[in-house]
Amino acid sequence: MDHLPFSLPPFDPGSVWLTGAGPGDPGLLTLMALHGLRHADIVIHDALLDSRLLALVRPGVTVEAWGKRGGRASPHQSAITARLIELAGQGLRVLRLKGGDPFVFGRGAEEALALAAAAIPFRIVPGITSGIGGLAYAGLPVTAGVSNSAFAFVTGHGPDGGLPDDLERVAQAPVLVVFMGLKHLADLSCRLVAAGRSPDEAAALVAEAATPRQRVVETRLADLAESAAAHALDPPALVVVGPIVALRAQLDWWRPHA
Ligand code: SAH
Repeated sequence: MDHLPFSLPPFDPGSVWLTGAGPGDPGLLTLMALHGLRHADIVIHDALLDSRLLALVRPGVTVEAWGKRGGRASPHQSAITARLIELAGQGLRVLRLKGGDPFVFGRGAEEALALAAAAIPFRIVPGITSGIGGLAYAGLPVTAGVSNSAFAFVTGHGPDGGLPDDLERVAQAPVLVVFMGLKHLADLSCRLVAAGRSPDEAAALVAEAATPRQRVVETRLADLAESAAAHALDPPALVVVGPIVALRAQLDWWRPHA
């Protein structure tokens, strides 16, 4: 990149950059990710991505969609890692581009482990996770001094496809952010209330955060499933439970620009 007062690392042929693209707004791409996009020979991206980012590649660069998306036919994870290894083995600069941050419920660790096992050099380029940056666009600060001393990120998609068995271990966190939870909202509410949270606690559903299609529904913990159905929310969406939801009344700042 031109005119930066520091240098960015070379993208070596035969290596893979496991890169986060941020939560939605293309302006939230990091300088390192932009550098990677401008130097890649091939881009392998997942489903949660603003397609305008793909216009940043050099002319003639191949762009392959290898999306994993709950509920839709998606390539097996081992096929994706095999493809990354194959392409790097051919001496290409391979950019693996993922929504949000690659290490937050993004299978980035699995891919990095496979690359390490195959002795393929790789770099991790962190991205802004939807669980922090996406919520910020919805006017939801994941911590607020007066409000919470901790937060927990939880997957709604455990090993068997349902909520994880150990949900109760984190159920008491002051703020809970649930990824991939839209399918099991009734179960989520029941288990959190059974674990001691109030059914009246403030909760929010945030769909397609940081995109022009962002939708935010404020509700109560007990009414999550009903609210999602009433507003016909579709993935990708986050569930937030905790006192920070009340701050949105003052912090709902974002409007998409033209
Ligand atoms: N690595 C990603 C998360 C991948 S798991 C990250 O750091 O954000 C996919 C889940 O992330 C979705 O089911 C949804 O719960 C959440 N997600 C990703 N992008 C989102 C967005 N723009 N708005 C709301 N939720 C999002």
